[in-house]
Amino acid sequence: SMASPALLMRVVASAYSVAEKAATIVRNVLAAGDLGIVEKTGANDLQTKADRLVQMSICASLARKFPKVTIIGEEDLPTEEVTEELIEDGHCEEILKKTCPAQYTGIKEEELVIWVDPLDGTKEYTEGLLDHVTVLIGIAYGGKAIAGVINQPYYNYEAGADAVVGRTIWGVLGIGAFGFQLTEAPAGKHIIVTTRSHSSTLVNDCISALNPDTVIRVGGAGNKIIQLIEGKASAYVFASPGCKKWDTCAPEAILHAVGGKITDIHGNSFQYNKEVKHMNSAGVLATLRNYDYYASRIPNNVKQSLVP
Ligand code: AMP
Ligand code: MG
Ligand code: MG
Repeated sequence: SMASPALLMRVVASAYSVAEKAATIVRNVLAAGDLGIVEKTGANDLQTKADRLVQMSICASLARKFPKVTIIGEEDLPTEEVTEELIEDGHCEEILKKTCPAQYTGIKEEELVIWVDPLDGTKEYTEGLLDHVTVLIGIAYGGKAIAGVINQPYYNYEAGADAVVGRTIWGVLGIGAFGFQLTEAPAGKHIIVTTRSHSSTLVNDCISALNPDTVIRVGGAGNKIIQLIEGKASAYVFASPGCKKWDTCAPEAILHAVGGKITDIHGNSFQYNKEVKHMNSAGVLATLRNYDYYASRIPNNVKQSLVP
């Protein structure tokens, strides 16, 4: 008989189904109408009932199947019993059929760290910019983002009654990324995608220095990586602290799986071991192609303002 699939593949296959359950919760909370908004550090840093329920669902579901894996979620929640209806037990068969890259076949539960952003783009969710919203489950090993799932609960939500709403994108280093059509941005154009709700003078000065043809301002780190891999933007530039490890882990794994690159504004790669500082203090620079063009044009004063 076939050997049982490698742990990494079982985790990714489960994370896929857990993220689909999460997307259903995100849609149901909004449809029910009571978002239960709480301000965290301020009016641009929100938590809703969906952020809370989804984190409980993802963390409890994965912890039940993989009890020794470290799971770090964005939200600070009181430890309470998670109701059985929040638990997802399924997995994606198609992912289990893929061959685990040789360097990952021996991974043990204790060696994995899962970074969970239950709802990325919360501000936009509360404002009805629904396709900015994603659910992010990033999987790290040896401090590196090696696999990830991005669910976009409202993908295609304005595409008409026949469209299937929502999609799940997943990827593993050495296998690739799936659930979308990989597309390069128009050659020779500098299309920058950045924050819409966390701008600053530094954020804008940095973008100006890159000679943009177009600046796209949208919410969510997950959403901005999707813009890169679908050819809508050529670089994601955010010269500010604010983005955290759970924002970048899943997007990084998927971007790297298709040959892209994400670093802080200095060019340092991100670390995802469980002891690491959560804040990406020195911002974000990501591209699918032509990373060096953008990296070489980040102004020195911007770099000096952002201490890793
Ligand atoms: P944005 O591009 O503004 O949607 O930010 C991407 C991710 O980083 C989201 O999860 C934001 O909540 C988070 N983020 C960025 N800047 C800040 C900030 N100043 N305060 C809180 N969260 C932030
Ligand atoms: Mg986020
Ligand atoms: Mg979030």
